[in-house]
Amino acid sequence: MSELADPRFTKILHNHQEIEGAAKRIAARIDQDYAGKTPVMVVVLKGAVMWAGDLFRNITNDIEMDFIDIASYHGGISSSNKITLRTDLTTDVKDRDVIIVEDIVDTGLSLRFLEDLLKSRGARSVQTATMLNKKAGHKIDVSAKYVGFEIDNEFVAGYGLDYQEIWRNLPFIGVVNPEIYS
Ligand code: 5GP
Repeated sequence: MSELADPRFTKILHNHQEIEGAAKRIAARIDQDYAGKTPVMVVVLKGAVMWAGDLFRNITNDIEMDFIDIASYHGGISSSNKITLRTDLTTDVKDRDVIIVEDIVDTGLSLRFLEDLLKSRGARSVQTATMLNKKAGHKIDVSAKYVGFEIDNEFVAGYGLDYQEIWRNLPFIGVVNPEIYS
């Protein structure tokens, strides 16, 4: 079945090549901005995993990788306001330059939670590299320094992002057909 004929989606927003292109562009900026430093790249599970792979493959400087799992979204179609830490980092981020690797910034509450957590642990700097930014979804004033794509306020899945825990493996990002969840 071709991507465009896929009834699960009303629209394909970005295919694999486009996402890889965005990752290359951001990796080059990170190489430049963090020259001579070894940032800790904090991947937010599970949604950012595919994006993180593309990003990391294209960064040539030394980096460290760590993973964190927060629960902010429970498999439905809108983010919940309550955020809890499910799996913590193993790296001590005190005095380290940290880059949060996110799938999407929607309300911004997850990002704020992570920034506050990392700063409270003494990180020297905290920036974010997000695959997608849903500006119209922001409930608070947050911003990611590195953004792959700006998207409209629609529910998307694929390339790490789930619909009820499935479709994370799809090699593209699409707008989920509302008929599926209505
Ligand atoms: P927040 O609302 O806190 O910015 O985003 C929390 C999380 O909700 C994101 O990291 C992502 O996992 C999930 N999320 C937000 N918008 C979408 C969306 O359009 N599709 C999917 N699959 N998940 C989303």
